[in-house]
Amino acid sequence: MVDPDELTDPGPVTADTADWTWVLARRCPDCGFDPDEVGPPALAQAIRDAGQRYAAVLGRPDVRRRPAAGVWSPLEYCCHVRDVCDLMRGRLEQILAGAGRGTVSFADWDQDAAAVRGRYWRSDPAVVGAELAGASRAAAAAFERPAAGQWDWPGLRSDGFGFTARTLGGYLRHELTHHLWDVRG
Ligand SMILES: [Zn+2]
Repeated sequence: MVDPDELTDPGPVTADTADWTWVLARRCPDCGFDPDEVGPPALAQAIRDAGQRYAAVLGRPDVRRRPAAGVWSPLEYCCHVRDVCDLMRGRLEQILAGAGRGTVSFADWDQDAAAVRGRYWRSDPAVVGAELAGASRAAAAAFERPAAGQWDWPGLRSDGFGFTARTLGGYLRHELTHHLWDVRG
């Protein structure tokens, strides 16, 4: 167990400013995610399964090691995935509370600022493991909630991109798949 006080802040990673919404339309050449493959009702189970694979990643002895300059360590990726699970669950809850009226807008979220503010690099892998397990289970339970007609209910991201409950679930599913690819999980 590393004493967190002996760790040195590695600084922020190279910011990811890409718009990843294209993964809702076509296969991701990196992680192989296919937007047509996993939708409701398999979505919730896929989220649970991914959560368990991240738990295995967090058990690695070198979980804090960044693979290259400017790239998150597996531990930092796990912190990100934990926060994404919470974020997407919250956004789905907003969509469902909006009842399809088309007035739902998501608050802006800067993932790189969140990483710096949350000091991801300094986290305790055991704590992150418990938090990620809880976050992925909660997200999976949330994505079991929509009834058939509710999957098309809308929610607007701050950049104007229009999600539905279905595409929000697909987006989360890609995040989980892609970051497992990032950490070779
Ligand atoms: Zn991908």
